[in-house]
Amino acid sequence: DDILTRSYASAAPTAAFAGQKGPNGKYTVTLIPGDGIGPEISQSVKDIYSAAKVPIEWEEVDVTPIFKNGKTAIPDYAIASVKKNTVALKGPLATPIGKGHVSLNLTLRRTFNLFANVRPCVSIKGFKTPYDDVNTVLIRENTEGEYSGIEHEIVDGVVQSIKLITHEASERVARYAFFYARSTGRKRVTAVHKANIMKMSDGMFLSACRQVSKDFPEIQYDEDLLDRVCLHITQNPAPYADRVMVMPNLYGDILSDMCAGLIGGLGLTPSGNIGRDASIFEAVHGSAPDIAGKGLANPTALLLSSLMMLRHMNLNEYADKIEKAALGTIAEGKTITGDLGGKSSTKEYTAAIVDKI
Ligand code: NAD
Repeated sequence: DDILTRSYASAAPTAAFAGQKGPNGKYTVTLIPGDGIGPEISQSVKDIYSAAKVPIEWEEVDVTPIFKNGKTAIPDYAIASVKKNTVALKGPLATPIGKGHVSLNLTLRRTFNLFANVRPCVSIKGFKTPYDDVNTVLIRENTEGEYSGIEHEIVDGVVQSIKLITHEASERVARYAFFYARSTGRKRVTAVHKANIMKMSDGMFLSACRQVSKDFPEIQYDEDLLDRVCLHITQNPAPYADRVMVMPNLYGDILSDMCAGLIGGLGLTPSGNIGRDASIFEAVHGSAPDIAGKGLANPTALLLSSLMMLRHMNLNEYADKIEKAALGTIAEGKTITGDLGGKSSTKEYTAAIVDKI
């Protein structure tokens, strides 16, 4: 239990929560239900929070994109709500593919400079998967790297896409990773890279990590190649337990989905986007258009993301209570959703959790 509690910690020492309770004794939190399965899984979280009497007032905002200067953009009131509340829970937002569309997810991360994306990946006790000892936390640089969005066609048929790495952003995310390890009792930080090929960009990322590691003598530090980590963690995840892995943007995106596969899929993996002035918590998965509106979605990933948020807000006792009820329901295996091999709907699974609260 202790390990699980630590694993879903948000640990945001650079982004201490400064929210104030309102006259009704509750904190206001922005809720962005999102697209596809977003509204269904958000409803599940709301129902569970009501049952657990969590002292939170949801400020629900619709982020249906508006058009600004010929591009999609997030409405100003949504930005204002996150700015005011400094904390938000967000459902998945579908990214339209093609020219002229900006990813709303990227826009939110950039607007609030959410520099670290924290993705715990932990086996759920009692839920059968090929391994039962996955327990790692991935911290992904969230603002630059391969996702800087700088691309151009040099000549017809040749496109250049820029991977941008700065010492400043690398140092910032490395420092966060070490803080996270220290405050959650993890013993090692591993920087994951491809500096054998990308000698300058990943090389700079590594040099920032090395430099920061000197300020944390009690935390072990090492470096590993992305492809080696993929191979080794799928063969035997045990040596990766109790550590934090920090890496540039794209590597974190891919490696975290791979690790999600080891613990039972995307329905189970939460995340937190941490910034200095605001933090936004969301599931790792997307809007799942193939199952949207059918009542089949697994709300666990969003629920666990919300628990990272509660711990970020120092509402630990509520987080502990809900986590126990949700993981207990999964471990029993009687009332679980289809992605986990069960037959229950989102609502039935939600009701089973509520019963345990
Ligand atoms: P996806 O994560 O939405 O779905 C991948 C597969 O996993 C699908 O088969 C889906 O049914 C299943 N799945 C995902 N979440 C589930 C859940 N909670 N319960 C049960 N099954 C679940 O990925 P995709 O189909 O590649 O992307 C769909 C859209 O979501 C795209 O527009 C993409 O850009 C967007 N997206 C948004 C975010 C975000 O908001 N942070 C993240 C990833 C993808």
